[in-house]
Amino acid sequence: MKSLSYLNKYFYIYKWRFLLGVIFIVISNYFGVQMPLYVKSTIDELMSGAHFNGLEDVLILSLKIGGIYMLLSALSGFFLFLTRQTIIVMSRLIEYDLKNEIYQHYQKLDFSFYKKNATGDLMNRISEDVSQVRMYLGPGVMYTINLCALFAMVIYQMIQINGWLTLFVLIPLPVMSFLIYFVSSKMNLLSKEVQKEQSLMSTIVQESFAGIRVIKSYNREKEVHEKFTTSANNYKLKSMALVLVNSLFMPTIVFLIGLSTILSIYIGGLMSYDGTISLGGILAFIFFVNKLTWPFASIGWVTSINQRAAASQSRINEFLQTEPSIKNPTNESFEFEGEISFEHVSYTYPNSGIQALKNVTFKINPGQTFAVIGKTGSGKTTLLNLLMRQMDPDAGSIRIDGKDLTTINLIQYRDQAGVVPQEVFLFSESIENNLLFGCTHEVTQSEIEESAKKAHVHHNIIDFPNGYQTLLGERGVNLSGGQKQRLSIARALLRKPKLLVLDDCLSAVDTETEERILSHLKTESNHLTTVIVSHRISSIRNADRILVIENGESVEEGTHEELMERNGHYAFLYNQQLAEDQAKDSNYKLEE
Ligand code: ADP
Repeated sequence: MKSLSYLNKYFYIYKWRFLLGVIFIVISNYFGVQMPLYVKSTIDELMSGAHFNGLEDVLILSLKIGGIYMLLSALSGFFLFLTRQTIIVMSRLIEYDLKNEIYQHYQKLDFSFYKKNATGDLMNRISEDVSQVRMYLGPGVMYTINLCALFAMVIYQMIQINGWLTLFVLIPLPVMSFLIYFVSSKMNLLSKEVQKEQSLMSTIVQESFAGIRVIKSYNREKEVHEKFTTSANNYKLKSMALVLVNSLFMPTIVFLIGLSTILSIYIGGLMSYDGTISLGGILAFIFFVNKLTWPFASIGWVTSINQRAAASQSRINEFLQTEPSIKNPTNESFEFEGEISFEHVSYTYPNSGIQALKNVTFKINPGQTFAVIGKTGSGKTTLLNLLMRQMDPDAGSIRIDGKDLTTINLIQYRDQAGVVPQEVFLFSESIENNLLFGCTHEVTQSEIEESAKKAHVHHNIIDFPNGYQTLLGERGVNLSGGQKQRLSIARALLRKPKLLVLDDCLSAVDTETEERILSHLKTESNHLTTVIVSHRISSIRNADRILVIENGESVEEGTHEELMERNGHYAFLYNQQLAEDQAKDSNYKLEE
C-alpha cells in the first residue's frame, strides 16, 4: 500500500476538486439518512392516530409523505451525481497526468533500459497498470469516503433510536464484507487467468494472420488450428469457473441482507412489546440496514481494487525511479567542428558479459570519411552506439573536438548528427513525413527532393501514384529493403548534419547504386564528417581512412590502397567479397 503514497502529489494538485467531492458525498448522505427518519416520524404519527378525522386526512398525509420522500431522494441523487462529476473526473485527470509522466520518463531513459525491458511490459505499465491505479483514485477513494460518511451518520441515528438493536443488526455486516473480500480476490485471480488465456489466444491469431504465407506454403493449417482450439478451450473452462464464482456472489449477499432485515424485525418486534422501540423505529432500522448494505459490501471490493492498484503502482514506481544512466551534462552550447577520437576505448555489455570493444584507438579529422569494417559481431554497431553516446565506455575516452564526450551538450551534439541505423524504421505515415521526421528547421519541397535524389530514391518515390504523399506501412505501400534503406539515408541528409553516421545501411542496395550514393555524399560538403560502418568492402573502399576490427579489436588501419598492399585481414576480406558481390548484383538490379 506504501506505493500508492506516490499519488498523493496528484491529490494535492486537485485538492479543491477533491474537497468539493467530499462535501458532495456528505450532503448526499445527509439527505439519504433523512429519508428513513421521515418515514419513522410519519408512521409513528399515523399509529398514534391522534388527529385524523377521516380517510381524506390519511390520503393527504400519504401524498405528503410520498412527495417529501421523492424530493429527498432526488436531492440525494443530485449530490451523488455531483460527487461522481468531481471525484471520478479527478481520477480521469490524474490518469491522464500519470500516463504523461510515465511516457515522458520513458523518453528520458537510455538505450540499456530498452534492451533490458520487453516492449510489451513497457506498454502494459502505461495502459493496464495505470487503469488499475485509476480504479483506486476514482471508485476506490469515492466508496471509502462514502462508507465513512454514511456509517457515521447512520450509526448515530440508529443509536438515537435504539442502541441494543443497532448492535444486533450490525453483526452480519462484517461477515458479509469479509466474504465479499474473499470472493472478489478469487474473482480477480480467475479473471487474470482468463485475461492471460485471452492474450495467448490473440497472439496465436495475430501470428497466424501475419505468417499466413508460411503456414499455407508449409501446409500447417491443421496444426495452427489445433493450437487455437486448445487455447480457446482453456479460455472457455476458465471463463466457466469465473461464472460459477460470480453466480454464488449475489445469492450470498442477498442472504446476508435478509438476515439483517429479519434481525431488525424479530428483535425490534420483541423490543416493541415493552415499548423500547416504536413501529416507525423498526421500519427506519430496516431502511438503515438496507442503506448500509451496499457500502459495506463495497469494503471487500474496494480492498481488492486497492490491493491491485498498489501492486500496479509499485510496478510503475519501479520504472519512474529508474534514473537514466546517460544525462545531458551541460547546457553550454556546442558547435561540432568535425574532429573525433577514440582513445583506448573498451566496452563490455553488462547483461551478456560480452566484451564488444577492446582498447580501440583512432582519430578522424574534420571533413573526413572514416570507415569501419569487420565481420558481423565484430563490434561495429557498438562503436557507433558509443560514438552517439547511447552508452559510455568502460575504459578509455571518446573525444569530440578534443573534449570528452561525457562533458559536452548531448542534445546539441545529437542534433548535429544524422544517423542511419542498421535496422530501418519508418513510421506508418507519408513518405514526406518520414523524411521530415528528423528536421527541426523549416524545409522546402526542393530540399526534400534534393536529399531524396542524393540518396537515389527520388525516382522510386515519384513512381508511386501519390508521390511524396504516399502512405507507408499497413495502410499504405510496402517498400523493398533497398528503398527503405535509401529513404532512411535521405531522412538523415535532410537534417543537414555535420556528422553523418551510416551503420551498415547499404546492405540491401546494389553496388552501383551504392557507389552513386557514396559519391554524392562525398561532394555533399567538405565540412561533413562521415563515419561509415559496413561488412562490405564496396561501401567503404573510397573512404579517407579505413579501420578493420575483429572480435572488438582494431587490427589494421589505412587507406584502401595501403591496406591492400599490406595483404593482411583487409585484403583477405576484399578477395572473399569480390566474387560474392558480383553474384548478388544481378539480383538487386531486378528490384530496381
Ligand atoms: P556488429 O555491428 O559488428 O555486427 P555488434 O557491435 O552488434 O557487432 O556486436 C558486438 C558483440 O556484442 C557481439 O558479440 C554481440 O553479440 C554483442 N552484443 C551486441 N549488442 C548486445 C547487447 N545489447 N547485449 C549484449 N550483447 C550484445
